[in-house]
Amino acid sequence: MNTEARQVVAFHYRLSEGGQPIESSHDRGEPMCVLLGGGGLIPGLEKALQGRSAGDSFEVTLAPEEAYGPYRPGLVQRVPKKYFADAARLRLGMATVLRTRAGGMQRVIVRKIGSSVIDVDLNHPLAGKALTFAIEVTALREATAAELEHGHAHGVDGHAHEH
Ligand code: ZN
Repeated sequence: MNTEARQVVAFHYRLSEGGQPIESSHDRGEPMCVLLGGGGLIPGLEKALQGRSAGDSFEVTLAPEEAYGPYRPGLVQRVPKKYFADAARLRLGMATVLRTRAGGMQRVIVRKIGSSVIDVDLNHPLAGKALTFAIEVTALREATAAELEHGHAHGVDGHAHEH
């Protein structure tokens, strides 16, 4: 972690791929609020937000390597149906969660359904895609000591949570 003054940036974004809208922060109403350098952003967005000012609007298109990484065919795995809580309701292309050996939850996409097994895709849904972000920076401020310690932003005013 570097020792320069670190910034918290709030921004709205519209994400699209090849002209097709994928999602937008406007759908939630609230802008995204992140600590730059906190690891909460994909690398290309982190870079694109450096040195901006409140009120800046810009568009950036990121290669997969700067976004969610290349698509890895090896991340498609065959899993027995008994490991799915919701096997009966799953359809092709649906997202579900699998419990990992480490006890965590892994979001997966259903690629193929057999009689006793299901092929799931562990790639991020946006892996392998070139993504365009239309960004509008709404606010910018220096990070608080608590934010630097936690490694994440505490909302636009810096007091979103205490822990
Ligand atoms: Zn915190």
